[in-house]
Formats: sequence, C-alpha cells, structure tokens
Amino acid sequence: MLNPPLFLNLGGSVANCTANLFDFKVCNRYMSKASQSRPSSLARKHTGKAKKYIFAFGSKTDGNAGMRELLGGKGANLAEMASIGLPVPPGFTISTEVCTYYYDHEMRYPPALKKDIVTALKQVETQLGKKFGARQNPLLVSVRSGARDSMPGMMDTILNLGLNDQTVEGLAEASGNPRFAWDCYRRFIQMYGNVVMGIHAKSEEEEDPFHEALEKLKKSLAITSDTELTTEHLKDLVKQYKALIAKLTREAFPQDVMQQLWGALGAVLGSWKNERAIIYRQQYGIPSEWGTAVNVQAMVFGNAGDQSATGVAFTRDPANGEKVFYGEYLMNAQGEDVVAGVRTPHGISDMKNSMPKSYRDLNNVRNKLERHFRDMQDFEFTIENGRLFILQTRNGKRTGLAAVRIAVEMQRERLISQKIALLKIPAESIDSLLVPVFDPKALKSATIIGYGLPAGPGAATGRIAFTAATAEIETRKGNKVVLCRTETSPDDLKGMLHSQGILTSRGGVSSHAALVARQLGKVCVCGAGEINISYEKRTLTAGKVVIREGEYISIDGSTGVIYKGAIESTDSEVKRVLERGFKPTSSLTYGLFQTVMKWADKYRSLKIRTNADTPEMARQAVAFGAEGIGLCRTEHMFFDGDRIDYMRQMILAVDEVQRHAALKKLLPFQRKDFIGLFKVMNGRPVTIRLLDPPLHEFLPHDDVVRRQLAEKLGVPFDFVIDRIKSLHEENPMLGCRGCRVGILYPEITEMQTRAIFEAAAQVVKGKKRIQVNPEIMIPLVGFKEELIDQLRIVHRVAREVMKAKKVRVNYIVGTMIEVPRAAITADEIAKEADFFSFGTNDLTQTTLGLSRDDMGLFYDEYQRKEIYNQNPFASLDQAGVGKLINLAVEKGRTVKPELKLGICGEHAGDPSSIDFCHRAGLNYVSCSPPRVPVARLAAAQAKLRNS
Ligand code: PEP
Ligand code: MG
Repeated sequence: MLNPPLFLNLGGSVANCTANLFDFKVCNRYMSKASQSRPSSLARKHTGKAKKYIFAFGSKTDGNAGMRELLGGKGANLAEMASIGLPVPPGFTISTEVCTYYYDHEMRYPPALKKDIVTALKQVETQLGKKFGARQNPLLVSVRSGARDSMPGMMDTILNLGLNDQTVEGLAEASGNPRFAWDCYRRFIQMYGNVVMGIHAKSEEEEDPFHEALEKLKKSLAITSDTELTTEHLKDLVKQYKALIAKLTREAFPQDVMQQLWGALGAVLGSWKNERAIIYRQQYGIPSEWGTAVNVQAMVFGNAGDQSATGVAFTRDPANGEKVFYGEYLMNAQGEDVVAGVRTPHGISDMKNSMPKSYRDLNNVRNKLERHFRDMQDFEFTIENGRLFILQTRNGKRTGLAAVRIAVEMQRERLISQKIALLKIPAESIDSLLVPVFDPKALKSATIIGYGLPAGPGAATGRIAFTAATAEIETRKGNKVVLCRTETSPDDLKGMLHSQGILTSRGGVSSHAALVARQLGKVCVCGAGEINISYEKRTLTAGKVVIREGEYISIDGSTGVIYKGAIESTDSEVKRVLERGFKPTSSLTYGLFQTVMKWADKYRSLKIRTNADTPEMARQAVAFGAEGIGLCRTEHMFFDGDRIDYMRQMILAVDEVQRHAALKKLLPFQRKDFIGLFKVMNGRPVTIRLLDPPLHEFLPHDDVVRRQLAEKLGVPFDFVIDRIKSLHEENPMLGCRGCRVGILYPEITEMQTRAIFEAAAQVVKGKKRIQVNPEIMIPLVGFKEELIDQLRIVHRVAREVMKAKKVRVNYIVGTMIEVPRAAITADEIAKEADFFSFGTNDLTQTTLGLSRDDMGLFYDEYQRKEIYNQNPFASLDQAGVGKLINLAVEKGRTVKPELKLGICGEHAGDPSSIDFCHRAGLNYVSCSPPRVPVARLAAAQAKLRNS
C-alpha cells in the first residue's frame, strides 16, 4: 500500500559520538537526539548571569568535547585538542545559541556579542603577537561553520579574512614572501565574493566567474598550475576580482576588517538555512533548531612555500576500515583546494619522502587522536614552513563496511568495549555488507575504460547524467543514473541522492563527492584522471571510448574500476551464505556480519519479527534472524495469477451466493499459502492479518483489463463497470477497508479463519509435527464492538475446525492500532484483545490527516520550510503519533499487564523509530525481511542507549 519511502538515514549520530569521554552520558544525550528539545541543559546553565556566547581555545580554553550542543562538533573538538596539547591555532567559538538568537530575532545578534568578539579577538592577538587589521604583522582568521553533527561541505567557510590593500603588504613583509601574501588575498576575495557577496556561476554548466578569470589568465600565460602564477600575476588577478565584484554587486570589496568579519559571520549563519543544508538535515534528521556554531581561528598557511602543505588525513581507511594511515595533501596550497577536489592531491605516504619530519609528526598526531577520541578521526592539518598545525578533527565519515570493521577491530584492539562498538555502528551500515557486487561472469566480458579511487563500495550501473538536475529528472522517470562530474560541489547533493553511483574525474578520497557518497552509502569512484568529461558536448571520454549522456556506464566503488555499458550485479557474500547456503570464503564481510549480529542479539530486548506474505520472504527473513512474522498481509496473497480475478470476483459480488462462490475458490490458495508460511516459520509466531483491502487497490482501472475480467467472470462488461462505479469511494483509505470488510461480509472472515486453522491442523499433524502459533489480527479497529464482532466469528470457526480436525492449535487474537480512537480507547479494546500491533502507516495517516499515497503536492515545500523534520511515513513522528502509542501502551497494560505489543508499520525498520519502540515498552518490531539485520542492531543500540 505504501511505496517504501526513500530511506537513507545512516544514523551518523552514533559514529559521531565523541568516544574519548566515554562517558555513556555524553553519548546518550547525543544519540537520543530525537527526544531532545531546546534549550539544552548546557544552555540553561548560562542563564541568570550574562550569557556566555563565546568560548576560547588556545592557551586558555573554555570548552571541551562534551560541549558539542553549544560549541558544535568542530568547536568542541578544537577545544578538546587544545587542552590535550595538540598544536591548534588559537581562536574562539561563537556558540550555537547565537545562531538560534539570530533566527529568532530577524537576523539580529545578541547585544553583547559585539563587545565579546572584540575581547576574544584581543586574546588571540595577544597569544600570537599579531593584530587584526594592522598593517604590520596582521592577524588573519578563518571563519567556519560547525554544527552539532558535522555537515561536511553543506555550510560556508571563509579563509584569510583580515586581508585588505594594506594588510596584504604587511603579510608580504612579515612572511618575506609577497607571492604568498597576494595568493592569500586573491583567494580571500574570491571566497568572500562567493559566500558573502553572493557571486556564483549562473548555472550548473557555467564556471564561477572568479574561477573563469583565473583559468583565462592561466591560459593566456600558457600555464596549467596555480603555483606557476607570479606575484605580479596574482596582483593582476586581485585587481580583476575587485572589478568583478564592483561590476556584479555595485559594491566595493570591503577594506574594513571588522566589516569583513561581520559579513562572514552573517553569511556562515545564513548558510544554516541554505538549500543544501536543509536537504542534508532532512536526510539525517537533524533538527533545524540546533543551529550552527561559528569558529573564528587564526590562519596558518599551507601555501607559504615549498615546506608548506595542507591536507586531510584519516586515522584508518574510511572506505574499507583497514587500519592504515590514510589521507592526502597538497604542497603549497590551502585546505579548500583539497576538499573542493580542484587539484588531485598526493597520497599521505608520499610525505614520507617529501617531508619526512612532518610525516612523523603527523603520524604521532594520528595515534594520539585515535587513542584519545577512541574512534576513527578525520582531521585537517596544515604545515606552515615545516611546522604542523591541526585545524580540526571529527569522527570520520565512513562507508558502512568501514563503520562495521572499525568498530569490530577497535573492540579487538581493546580500545573500546563491545557495547561501545555496537553503539558506534550506524545501524544502516549493516546494509553495506549486503550490497550487490558485479556478477563475476558478466565482469569477464566487460570493457574497462578507466580507474579512479574507490570511495564508496558496491556496484552501480546506470545511465550517465552530467548534472544533478538531469540525475533527478531521469530517476523520476524510473531510470537508474550514475552522476558523472569533473568534481562535485555541495549543490550536487540532491542529484547524488537520486543516483546509483557517483563518478568524478578530479578530486581525492576526501573530496566532497567521496565524503558525501560514503555517508549516503552511495557507490562512488572519484579522481579518475584518465576520464574526460565535457559538459558542453555532453560526453565522457576515456581514451578512444566516447560515451554520451543517457548511455550506460558501470562503476565499482570497492575497486575503483570504471566499465563501459551496463553490467549485471549479484548478491553479496553474506546474502549468498545466509540465503542460499554457500560456504563462506575467507572474505571479511561474512565474519563481520556474524560478529555484529551476535553482539546485537546478546544485548537487545526487543524481538525482531518480519512482515512477510510468502514463504520466500519468510525464508529470507528467518535467514536474516527474524523471530516470527509480525504481519502477513493476506490481501497480498491474492495479487498473483488467477487469484486476483477471484479476489475481484469476490469484491464485485452482488450477493452472498456470488461471494461464497469466489471465496470457495480463494480458500485453497489461502490454505496452501498458510501451510507454506507455517512450515518455514517452524513454530515461530505468525501474525496473520485478516483482509484489509482498500478496494481501489484491487479493482482494475484500465478498460482493457476490465473487459478481460468480465470475460473471465462470464458477466457483461457493463456489469463490471456499473459495479465498480457503485463501489467507488471518494476516500477509499478511509472507506470500506479493515475490519469494516469483515463486518459487512462475515463470510470473508469465516473463509480466512477456516484457511488458517485448516492449514495449522495439516502442519501440526504432518510428518514433521511442526508447531504452529498463529496470531490472528483484526485491522483498522476503532471501536471495541468492531473487535468483538470479528472475534465471535474467529473463535467460532476456530472451534469448528479444531473439532473437525481433532487438533488443538495455540492461537491468540488481537488487533491493530491504526486510528487515533483505538489508541485513545485502548483500555476498552485491550479487554477484548490478546495483543496490539501498531500499524503506524495508517496511524500516521489518520493522526496527521495526511494521505500516505499522495504527499507529493506539498511535500517538497514542507521539506524546504522544514515543517517536517523527516518524512513522517519513514521516521515515526514521535511527538505526535508517538504520544498516541504511549497512551495506548499505558491504557492497554493497565487493563492487561501482559498485553503483547508490537509495531508493523514501515517505521519498524527505522533505527530512530526502533529506539522509540524500545522506550515505549513494546515487545517486538516487525519490518520487511531485508531490514531485519538493521533492526537487530538498532534494537541492541536502543537497549544500550537507554539502559
Ligand atoms: C499500517 O497501517 O501500518 C500497516 C502495517 O498496515 P498497512 O500498511 O497494510 O495498511
Ligand atoms: Mg494499515
């Protein structure tokens, strides 16, 4: 009934928990973010006296890693690094409360902020012996965003702030390197022009005007690298950039450094609400009220000469989790060059030769960071004239495979406990061990056209799309797409979400493309230098091979290989072993899967069931660890072959006789299916829901099919049309469905109950004497009388069949809670029911008054305005629907303390909803078979987090 929602929430929260403070409390507070609301406990601590908005780091440090609510992840970790003696350039963090104030007060700042910033700047000046805005020895700063959860590349950053026509000369003198000073100045003007003054490329196909001017200049000089530009060239570029700004904005580039700082602060705060940040927040369930902190930090310079460099490093490989020092750097460059992927950097191991001392320093920092934070760190560094500085550290974004491997291996290294290891694996990561791989047979004949860096594992095949917009359009048409870009920018996020995979010709493993792909669980190959992408010609060229937009390409994000054309993929090893009984090979994935599942089962208290309607689905779910069926939608058993016709015959019947005739044909199918399910489930509980057909889903809409149906049923075409008309409902979702069908046509309930008990009798009495535990479930109940009506039929038929077959079947009868009235009167209903199962698809629909079938019309706007934090059909609306569930649990258990409680809506496979179900005291969650492993892990995490 419900299209499975696009669900990509990787629950990065777990991986982002600062493990050094382990300190479960910190982790708990952080991870149960869905239940948090402002003001935070930290914020409250500061009320009463003048509120502290600014927190210094450096020789005097006010914060620590546990203060990410207030300082954002970046600010909190800068403070932590400063306090453990790592070489962090000094600075200060403007707290997230300034951001919330700013948005609550029509873009105004707290009155005291101005004075506080001046004081904080003074402290930095004193530590460094430099002065902000002074001609002599000027202090330059970076201004960076920093939310509680890192949102890489989604918000704005400004570097080299504090440069103007005067201070550039001072920097040239102080550094003895005029080329470097002018390089900083031209970079700053470009960034400021982009971020603060709003100058951008006009379309996806066009270049940014500053970049265009730079490329034009290089072309005219017949040079390819920025480092070949001389001081004079850079001065010329500065002139051109300033003229560009004046022309495009009718404003001069500001020379007043305080004006620059306030401009940057406003832009960074403003970027909290830019489109890509909003999309990102939706994706990861980050509440918009959190706001971002802003970090102002003294600049150090990786572009100060040939003993200078800048880079990004990971303490372990973020793509596969291997314990190797991983990362990349650029000589004589600034950080943005690495992250933006405009130049393909060197691998970190090259530094052993080019800068051996710096490599050793860096490796020491790597070890210290990992031991301290007890998690894989992704850190940015700058080497200025041989001296190492660390600019930021965070728990590194990683692929699902890496998340699992790092957690398991860190536990084996005794860096973390089993419980912490479990908490560190975003539950969705388990899916990465189940992702398809290219079919080895198909690979033999595939044409390799190039290689890139493997940046997001898995196999992806799709039509080439060169822009994010094309990717989105093609996907909406139902086509699979691989987004191919020279490099990606954060604006491509939406297109990336729509793509099977991402291929870039430039950029390294820490480029934006790689970072985001990893986090989204997308297949990604980046920095494929032999590939040439022309947006103009709409072609991708690799040697002599030319592929056009819309043609197929395949990429393997585990190996970095790029293939021409489409390639079949096949199941992962874990699936082959679990579902088809293959012998595990020596590969990692199966071992990791088993370890994590074993640990999860040890800690969780929620049972995991599955929603399965066929023996195949049930078999898969059991292989994945399902402990029962929580929902068998019996109407789904009638979609196949002739069955749909009998079902339609039954729906179209005008009287009981006709209906009985159709039901008689359906009974053997139904019985056979139940036998299949009972056998596969081998004594595990099987919840069978009686018919719940919103009629429109079963009746043919097309006249050709209607005519065929008339012929098959031997009735006139007009009869079918008239009958369909007479059954028409304006609101079928709220119409003749659920228990209303069984109340209107008791013979349907009778037939289904008979099928269940006849099947049970046959299985129980069969050779293998398999136990059967059916749990019969009545849908869409709102009044206890509805339940009583159906219970009478079920118990009567059960008695009749058991007597006739001389068998006893252990069964229970319960109801779904799918409408608010059922939740509100749960105490009355519980008197009649043996169990409740929350049908949160309908409960969301009926509580929010929101159709689960057509949210399309307004949903985009709702997302843009952040009215819904997340799609309420994907992640439970805990503040609304959740309250009804809590009420029903409380009322139900008051009447029957042992009342069995479960959930079988789509939310049962969503980790944060599972956390809610645990807290609400449910006994089980029932999700689709492929989600069972995720649910097992999420259930264990819920237990650990809430204990
Ligand atoms: C539900 O409403 O949550 C449910 C499981 O039932 P269905 O999706 O079949 O309506
Ligand atoms: Mg329902």
